[in-house]
Amino acid sequence: MPTSILIIDDSDNIRSSIVATLREVALFEQYIEAKDGIDGLKSLLDNRVDLIICDLEMPRMDGFKFLSMLSGREELKDIPVIMLTGKEDRQSKIKGLERGAVDYVTKPFDAGELVARVKVQLKIKALQDELRKSNELLLELSNTDHLTRLYNRRHLMETLDREFKRALREGGFFSMIMLDIDHFKKVNDTYGHQEGDAVLVAVANVVRRELRPYDYAARYGGEEFALLLPATNLAGSMQAAERVRKGVESMTFADKLQNLVVTVSLGIATYPSSQVYCIDALITEADDALYRAKANGRNRIESMIGAT
Ligand code: GH3
Ligand code: MG
Ligand code: MG
Ligand code: MG
Repeated sequence: MPTSILIIDDSDNIRSSIVATLREVALFEQYIEAKDGIDGLKSLLDNRVDLIICDLEMPRMDGFKFLSMLSGREELKDIPVIMLTGKEDRQSKIKGLERGAVDYVTKPFDAGELVARVKVQLKIKALQDELRKSNELLLELSNTDHLTRLYNRRHLMETLDREFKRALREGGFFSMIMLDIDHFKKVNDTYGHQEGDAVLVAVANVVRRELRPYDYAARYGGEEFALLLPATNLAGSMQAAERVRKGVESMTFADKLQNLVVTVSLGIATYPSSQVYCIDALITEADDALYRAKANGRNRIESMIGAT
C-alpha cells in the first residue's frame, strides 16, 4: 500500500511548500491536500492516510476541532497528527498536544526540521502497525486449534458463555452439538497417527462447509468437536447435524486411505428446556446424547431426552 500524507492548511502557499519539501526526500507516494478541517475529514473518508500535518487556525473547522473529531472516530484516531503552530504560541501547542496531536512544527517551518519530525512519526507508526499485527496474530493463534484451524476449547468456553447469556437475556433458542469420530482409534492403528491427523482435518473441513456462517465450530478434545448454533431449535440443529453426518460419511480419500469410510456420532442439546439451566447442563446433555448415539450403533444423531 502506498504511504500517504494529508496536509491541511488554509494557505495554498504553506501547503505547496510542505509538499515540495517532502517530495524532495520522497517520503510519501501520495500527497493529499485540504484547506480546512472539514475538507480534511472528507478526504480521510476516501483515502487511507499514514500521517497528517494540520494547521491550527483555519476557517470553518480549525485544527483543534479537527483533532477532536479525529479522536472520536475509531478508524481514524490512531493516525498521527503533527500540528502547525506559530513560533511563540505556547498555549496552542499545549492545547493541541492535549487534544491528541503527536508533535508540532512552528511556522515559518524549517525544511530540515519538518522532514526530521515527519520521519520520527513514520518510524513510530511503522512500529505500532507491526505491534498491532503481531498482537492480532497472537490472539488468533491463542483461539485456534493448530491442527484443524477450528476454534479451540478455550475460545469455545468463552463463546459459549457469551452466547448462552445472550439466549437467556433475549429468550431465544440455542443449540449445541457434540460430535465424535467413530472408531477413530482404529484409523490410527491401521494407518498411523499422521493419517489420523489428516482424517481429523478432513472432518473439520466438512463441519466448516456444512454450517451456516453464524454457526460456530470448535475442536473440543482429541477427535471430538463442539458446534454451537445460535437462534436454532431442535429441528434446525437436527438438519445441521444430519448435513454434517452425511457429509462425513460421503468423504473419499486418496492413496493409502482410499478404502476408508469415516463416520461420526452426534448428540444435540437445546435451550430452552427443563434440563438446561446453565452451560454445564447444556454440555452434559449434549454429551449424554452423544453417548446414546454411540450406544445405539454410531453414525447417527441423538438428541437430549425430552427435547421437542
Ligand atoms: P468411539 O467410536 O467409541 O468414539 O471409538 P474411538 O476409537 O473413536 O474412541 P476413543 O475415545 O477410544 O479413541 C479416540 C482416539 O482418538 C484415541 C486417540 O489416540 C485419538 N486421538 C485423539 N487426538 C488425536 C489427534 O490429534 N490425532 C490423532 N491422529 N489421533 C488422535
Ligand atoms: Mg491558518
Ligand atoms: Mg471416537
Ligand atoms: Mg472421543
